[in-house]
Amino acid sequence: MNTGILETRTKLENRWLDDSAYANWIDWKWQIAHRIKDIATIEKILDTRFSSEERKRIQETIDIFPMSITPYYLSLVDPEDFRNDPVFKQAFPDQRELHVAKYDMADPLAEDRDSPAPGITHRYPDRVLFCVSNVCSMYCRHCTRKRRVGDIDSIPDREQLEQGLDYIRQTPVVRDVLLSGGDPFLLSDEKIKWLLDELNKIDHVEVIRIGTRTPVVLPYRITDELVEILKSSEKPVWINTHFNHPQEMTSSAKRSLKMLAMAGIPLGNQSVLLADVNDCPRIMKRLVHKLVMNRVRPYYLYQCDLSEGLEHFRTSVGKGIEIMESLRGHTSGFCVPTYVIDAPGGGGKIPVAPNYLISWSTNKVILRNYEGVITTYQEPDCYHHNACDLQCDTCNLHLKLDEAEEKSVVGISRLLADYDDTITLTPAEDDVFEPEERASEPDHSDGNDA
Ligand SMILES: *Cc1c(COP(=O)(O)O)cnc(C)c1O
Repeated sequence: MNTGILETRTKLENRWLDDSAYANWIDWKWQIAHRIKDIATIEKILDTRFSSEERKRIQETIDIFPMSITPYYLSLVDPEDFRNDPVFKQAFPDQRELHVAKYDMADPLAEDRDSPAPGITHRYPDRVLFCVSNVCSMYCRHCTRKRRVGDIDSIPDREQLEQGLDYIRQTPVVRDVLLSGGDPFLLSDEKIKWLLDELNKIDHVEVIRIGTRTPVVLPYRITDELVEILKSSEKPVWINTHFNHPQEMTSSAKRSLKMLAMAGIPLGNQSVLLADVNDCPRIMKRLVHKLVMNRVRPYYLYQCDLSEGLEHFRTSVGKGIEIMESLRGHTSGFCVPTYVIDAPGGGGKIPVAPNYLISWSTNKVILRNYEGVITTYQEPDCYHHNACDLQCDTCNLHLKLDEAEEKSVVGISRLLADYDDTITLTPAEDDVFEPEERASEPDHSDGNDA
């Protein structure tokens, strides 16, 4: 038995120690095969008994939103106080999930609407989200794609993955492909290798990103073989994982992160702000410290989406801003994630932060720092603004023309640009970004002329 694994054993793990569990604990396929999906097993492991009324309501919830917990992840729960446990709350159904609040939506991010090919969501100019797996080892209760959880019909087959790849091949603006799901690491090694190989063959793809929660819920999935596959990708593979609470950073999790980092894979983390789980500045600070100690850069802190049945997880936006206020300046800059709200209706991620710019005049700005010190920054009297006409070859700033791909500008940047006469943006009701327009036109501009 690997000693690194033994360290992770908690009080709860003692209840797993039959011969099979002992022998196979670190085998990820054993973990998958032994996922806990029913109430009775939970009762046995936690040595508890739900009332018949409670059982009935939990079962009703499972019937709609299935439960699946890896033995490893369940072993992180404190059995003495499981109802208040952050791991338990992320994994065990709550009858409040059946409550659909007034503004809840099945597909709040309009991922299905903005999908030009199976599994693809093309929302931003230069990158796509590619859902390559509908399977997860642990079903997060706060999943934004809850509508699809356990929906076996939508597991993409090779044919569908080919269609997604075709879209990427035919869409030269796509320089960044974000593999997500489900969890891409629940695919076989062969399938992952095949996907990476195919993406590597596409000239205009510059980076490949993978979003996976396996380091948190199934760290044994990070095997030497998998790491070898990721490492052998010619194009850089970046990985974003999803830790929400310091309790999740076990020695097994640390080991998996180290394996990835040592293979040269940059690691980021996307947390979701969850009521009664991590909506606390001290918990968040502890979490980001544990992340950077394990070579993981906190990337995003998400405001919980408006997916159906998540209202009990949602916090006020003010709580997120309070957390950001408690981090910036108080700890290392690279511990601070960007707090974002993913705009309902498919507007994409919008950063939200405390204000540091208090006021300004013609050539002076007034700022405040994290301590509340108010200061002034005097702007130069002589800053000469060179109006940009996009003629990079005559500009004295050096940008080689073949690297200056952008010839059009959208959004607020368009209002700021010297070379564009647009003075107002007036989005029409039906003026949503049409991904297929991008397929043929690398330099497509989708702003609106007034
Ligand atoms: C989050 C997301 C991305 C990636 O956004 P970044 O800010 O680049 O991390 C791309 N496409 C879709 C549809 C997304 O939701």
